Amino acid sequence: MRCRTREGGRGFHTEDRGPLRRDHAAPMPYERDNIMWLAPYTPGEQPTGRAIKLNTNENPYPPSDAVMEAIRNVSAEQLRRYPVPDARPFREAAAKVHGVTREHIIATNGGDELLRLAISVFCDVGQGGAGGGVGVCEPSYSLYPVLAAIHDTPVTAVELDGDFALPADTASQWNDAGCRLGMIVNPHAPSGRLQPLDTLRTIAEEFRGVLLIDEAYVDFAPHDALGLVREGLDNVLLLRTLSKGYSLAGLRFGYGLGHPDLIAALDKARDSYNTDALSQAAAVAAIQHREAAATTWRRVIAERERLAVALRRLGFGVLPSASNFLLVTPPTTPTPLTAGLDAESLYRSLKSRDILVRWFDQPRLWERLRITVGTVEQDEALLGALGESIEG
Ligand SMILES: *Cc1c(COP(=O)(O)O)cnc(C)c1O
Repeated sequence: MRCRTREGGRGFHTEDRGPLRRDHAAPMPYERDNIMWLAPYTPGEQPTGRAIKLNTNENPYPPSDAVMEAIRNVSAEQLRRYPVPDARPFREAAAKVHGVTREHIIATNGGDELLRLAISVFCDVGQGGAGGGVGVCEPSYSLYPVLAAIHDTPVTAVELDGDFALPADTASQWNDAGCRLGMIVNPHAPSGRLQPLDTLRTIAEEFRGVLLIDEAYVDFAPHDALGLVREGLDNVLLLRTLSKGYSLAGLRFGYGLGHPDLIAALDKARDSYNTDALSQAAAVAAIQHREAAATTWRRVIAERERLAVALRRLGFGVLPSASNFLLVTPPTTPTPLTAGLDAESLYRSLKSRDILVRWFDQPRLWERLRITVGTVEQDEALLGALGESIEG
């Protein structure tokens, strides 16, 4: 039996009361076990230099003029005071754009805060291996299992089909495991595949928990799942973010769209002032000037198709994408004799040329690269470097 004694504020040491010798005793940390064992989320690299960044799915075009003007117009008085606690002006503007009421919307500090909130509100937390956890698909956004681990709630992962389609029994697998929350990213990350609305509706109807459809990339897709919310399904929650479509990843503003009862539950558990005055001002301008952002979506979509064709010409396998990135497989299968062409080597070779793409050290993704669609100039630099890397 060991007990922890504080030593002068910060440090601590352990006192042995059993057979363990003191000098062998590991210091006992203050955090819970699940935090001690946690492997934290690995964000994509954010270099300060002038590298070509095609690794974290940012929009290559700047935010709209209206957004920058709104930020410049924030007054000293607005900063002196606390912000509007529930971001009502934003929720009203967004409700108008989406054809719902403000009671269908909660504003969050980035979409990631909505994910965290959903777990703390809908799941049994601190349960370790017991039921009541999160259902996810594999592979998918690697933040989901990390957030579940922070809350010490179990994760049930459904393996996606070969071409990253959702298996028909997704909801029943989650139900069997007692999941209270399911998370599906659509368009899928990191493949870009768009699941049909009917598939999502069936899962929502069969699943006994809350279905969170993560629509972080929906602005680049031909359809969204807003219809499920408008139809009145009471367990569907959509995640939206200004980070990708609206070129505002640095702002940290996202929102949830769902049945008013779900939104009211989430609203009870958020921080009192979870979105700040500057981000609210910018977010209102962004959503009111959605058409300016939509101009960049059309450019990204056109460039996505051009880049896919060019990569296929270089011999890459390219999956169809409804997003602002492509998941690609390099042209030759690596053998001991053709070293340097596998996805990881290619990632490193590009990095040495100041071009960042994403390589995931994960099953089913080892052989692939995820490439964010950039401007024509950025993508041309990428294609040039890829051509050289492959020729050696
Ligand atoms: C970017 C992203 C989000 C939300 O990101 P925020 O910057 O926190 O709004 C959510 N899910 C996926 C899959 C994403 O890629």
